[in-house]
Amino acid sequence: AEFAALDAAVDEAAEREDAQLSQPVLAVVGRPNVGKSTLVNRILGRREAVVQDVPGVTRDRVAYDAVWNGRRFTLVDTGGWEPGASGLAGAVAAQAELAMSTSDAVLLVVDASVGATATDEAVARVLRRSKRPVLLAANKVDDDRLMGDVASLWSLGLGEPLAVSALHGRSSGDLLDAIVSALPEAPRDGERGTGPRRVALVGKPNVGKSSLLNKLSGEQRAVVDSVAGTTVDPVDSLVELDGQTWRFVDTAGLRKRVNTSTGTEYYASLRTKSAIDASEVAIVLLDASEPLSEQDLRVLTMVVEAGRACVLAFNKWDLVDEDRRHQLEKELDRGLVRVPWAERVNISALTGRSVRKLAPALRTALASWDQRVPTGQLNGWLSELVAATPPPVRGGKQPKVLFATQAAIRPPTLVLFTTGFLEAGYRRFIERKFRERFGFAGTPVRINVRVRE
Ligand code: GDP
Ligand code: GDP
Repeated sequence: AEFAALDAAVDEAAEREDAQLSQPVLAVVGRPNVGKSTLVNRILGRREAVVQDVPGVTRDRVAYDAVWNGRRFTLVDTGGWEPGASGLAGAVAAQAELAMSTSDAVLLVVDASVGATATDEAVARVLRRSKRPVLLAANKVDDDRLMGDVASLWSLGLGEPLAVSALHGRSSGDLLDAIVSALPEAPRDGERGTGPRRVALVGKPNVGKSSLLNKLSGEQRAVVDSVAGTTVDPVDSLVELDGQTWRFVDTAGLRKRVNTSTGTEYYASLRTKSAIDASEVAIVLLDASEPLSEQDLRVLTMVVEAGRACVLAFNKWDLVDEDRRHQLEKELDRGLVRVPWAERVNISALTGRSVRKLAPALRTALASWDQRVPTGQLNGWLSELVAATPPPVRGGKQPKVLFATQAAIRPPTLVLFTTGFLEAGYRRFIERKFRERFGFAGTPVRINVRVRE
């Protein structure tokens, strides 16, 4: 039953393969009452509109996931305006500034039935300085009689006004086409094709890599590798584990059982690096009978820096007695503080002990690597966390966390939009809490901060 759940998670991830792996951000700005919320709901394809008829009601800034023609993006409704000393124009201009610095494109909404007001012009002036694309939506064009008023909005200097009716849905498809083509094509980070998932088997010399590979591939029985005419790169091995085929990358050296003492450590580390780069998940083999070494930590660091999912396999467990086990636990608490999230299995390549636990661990790690938290859920959680434990004050200023998105998977990457620098300690705190709430066992999680300029 556990396996079925894991399989379902893996399948779901595969289905998402064509989905955008990194989400650009669109901010929606405009005066109160022009129809921003109605438009946002229209874009999200939601009926239950959170529209307020009272102008000027303060709403929180909220972020949503949107998808159009298979392109995903994050939609930020800059929401309510906070009338300050600078008045309405000042408040909306500030909102526009914020939108420009935290998004990849901005959508300015104006009310075509009213025409360009002084406030709209002030905002347009700000947005014309934007280095990022700006789209102009002329809303409330419920019928053709308003098209003349729409044309007059060219005067805002933001290019062609796109006539829409958020209320009736008129031309919302055209608007979405324009939005999607204005947003940057997201980098398809770590994208993979179909076929077996790629595993790197790494660790210092003599830790048991060749022994494990032999054990996994059925002792001395030849596996489907190095066969001319197969699509498998001859340096890789296909290994059948737990009913699933895995592609162990860059194993040629291991299979030939080359004398590991030849070749410099530098060369070995290049090999390790190239195997990790070619993989999606790494099995980092550690020798449980020896203290954790610098070399072990270097390999582990390479995996984390490459952003690969990770399983720690403690090999030679047959040599571990009660005393060693206690000692090991202490060592690990100290040595592995940076990777408390890694999946762990205790194995013996020699006796075959627990090697069948590797496949479930690999699956868990990959499911995490592929996992995405919807933006709404992420922000609901984050706003509570930040309210309870705000970022530390720096230079007399309290940085504010405005919102966040999970911009990428493989590895999962959060982007926090803030008004100031967040210390590494606070980022680690957020990561810890994020994992407590959402899991992500077996994968590194990146937390990037975009500071509003
Ligand atoms: P926001 O303050 O900019 O978010 O504006 P809302 O989305 O709250 O809309 C303000 C008012 O304008 C509401 O009463 C909406 O029903 C109305 N509205 C929004 N879009 C349209 C539209 O396309 N046509 C018409 N006639 N009314 C609209
Ligand atoms: P590699 O250099 O990482 O490929 O390591 P090898 O697979 O060549 O193993 C190095 C040595 O460790 C060999 O003598 C193996 O027999 C031994 N070895 C590997 N795995 C185990 C294990 O689980 N238990 C014990 N006791 N010895 C092992």
